[in-house]
Amino acid sequence: STALRGRDPEIAAAIDSELHRQRSTLEMIASENFTSPAVMEAQGSVLTNKYAEGYPGRRYYGGCEHVDTVEQLAIARLQDLFGAEAVNVQPHSGAQANAAALHALADPGDTILGLDLAHGGHLTHGMRLNFSGRLYDVVAYGVREEDHLIDMEEVRRLALKHRPRVIIAGWSAYPRHLDFAAFRRIADESGAYLMVDMAHFAGLVAAGLHPDPVPHADVVTSTTHKTLGGPRGGVILSTGELAKKINSAVFPGQQGGPLEHVIAAKAVAFGEAAGPEFRDRQQRTLEGAQILAERLRGPDIAASGVSLVSGGTDVHLVLVDLRSSELDGRQAEDRLHAAGITVNRNAVPFDPRPPMVSSGLRIGTPALASRGFGAVEFDEVSEIIAYALTPNLTERDLGDLRERVENLTGRFPLYPHLTDPAKE
Ligand code: PLP
Repeated sequence: STALRGRDPEIAAAIDSELHRQRSTLEMIASENFTSPAVMEAQGSVLTNKYAEGYPGRRYYGGCEHVDTVEQLAIARLQDLFGAEAVNVQPHSGAQANAAALHALADPGDTILGLDLAHGGHLTHGMRLNFSGRLYDVVAYGVREEDHLIDMEEVRRLALKHRPRVIIAGWSAYPRHLDFAAFRRIADESGAYLMVDMAHFAGLVAAGLHPDPVPHADVVTSTTHKTLGGPRGGVILSTGELAKKINSAVFPGQQGGPLEHVIAAKAVAFGEAAGPEFRDRQQRTLEGAQILAERLRGPDIAASGVSLVSGGTDVHLVLVDLRSSELDGRQAEDRLHAAGITVNRNAVPFDPRPPMVSSGLRIGTPALASRGFGAVEFDEVSEIIAYALTPNLTERDLGDLRERVENLTGRFPLYPHLTDPAKE
C-alpha cells in the first residue's frame, strides 16, 4: 500500500518481496494456505485497535458493541460448520488453543498421552522443551515399524497402564485417518478425556471429506490457517459441559485481550468454508495428494530409494521417506527449492538422521488447490517433484524444472488485485 511504502519502505519492500515469492513459486508446505482477499481485509481492519477482554456481552472494556457482533458471528459460524455444542474463537494460535485446552482438562503434574513428535505428533502434545512437556507427565505412543500406522493396541495398553488425564489424538505429520471411535473407547475405559487436535485436517472435516472427530471428543482444538484456509489462529470446540472451563482457561487462564481483527477474519473464513466452492477446493486438495502419492510410489522413483511413509495417504499431504535414498531431507528440500517448489524436510518414523537433516519431506496440496490447481496441474507438479528427487540431476535439468514451475505459476495468478512492484 502507498501508506506503508511512504512510512516504512523497508518493511514494505520485504512484504512486496514475499508477495513476489508466493506468486512465483509453488507452495507445498502442508500447513500453509492462501487466505482470500476478504479474510486479509478483515484482518487488516480497525478492529486491531480494540481491547475486548472477556466474552461477548461480558467484557471488561467499554465500546465493545461492534466487536461483540464480530465475535458472535464467528462463534455461530464455527458452531454451524462443525456442529459443536460450544466453541471458543479467541486462541491466538494452535499452540495457545492446546495450552488452554490442557489447562482446562488437567492440572500440572497430571499425565497426558500423545503421539510422539518423532512419529508425527506436534510440539504441544508433550515435547520435552514445550510447555506441555514441562507441565505434564508425558507418555507417548507411536506408529508401528512395519506399516507406519498408529497401533491402537499400544495406545490402549499405555492408557490402561498410565491412566492419563488426557489422551491427545492428532498430528502434524501423519498421512492417514485416525480411528476416533477407538480413541473414544480407550478414553472411556481408562477414565481419560479425549482431546483431538484437528489443526491439519479441519478443512477436510468441514467439507465432509474426513472422519469427524467432534462426536467422539470431549474437546477438539484446531488452527484456522491450514486446510481450513483462514487467518493464522486457533479455536477450541467442546461439549456444552466443558464450555465454561474452556472459556476460563483461554481468558483469563492463558490470554489477555483477544485479537478481534483476527476473529473477524476467522468469521469470514468460516463463512467461506460453509460455501460450495470450499468443498470443491478440499476435493482438489485430496485428489492432488492422491496423484502425488501415485507418482511417488512408482517403480522408476522407487529405484532411487524414494518411498512413502505408510505407502500412501488419506489426507492433504504425503510424507516422502528418503531413508534409502542418497538424498537426505535437507538436500531434497534444497533441490525442490531450486526448482521453485517450497516444502519442508521432516523426520520420518525411526529416522536414523538427526532432526536438522532428517530423512523425509512433508509435501502438501492445500495451497495449490486454493490457487486453483486441479488434476492436470497436480499431475505436472508430481512429475516435476519425482524428477527433482532422482539422483544425478544436472544444473540444466534443474533449470528445465524451474521453467516448468514458472509456466504453472504464470497460469495461476495469485492475488491479482495486489500490485507487484517488481513489475511496475
Ligand atoms: N497442532 C498441530 C497438529 C499443528 O500441526 C500445529 C502447527 O504446526 C499446531 C497445533 C500449532 O499451531 P500454531 O503454529 O498456530 O501455534
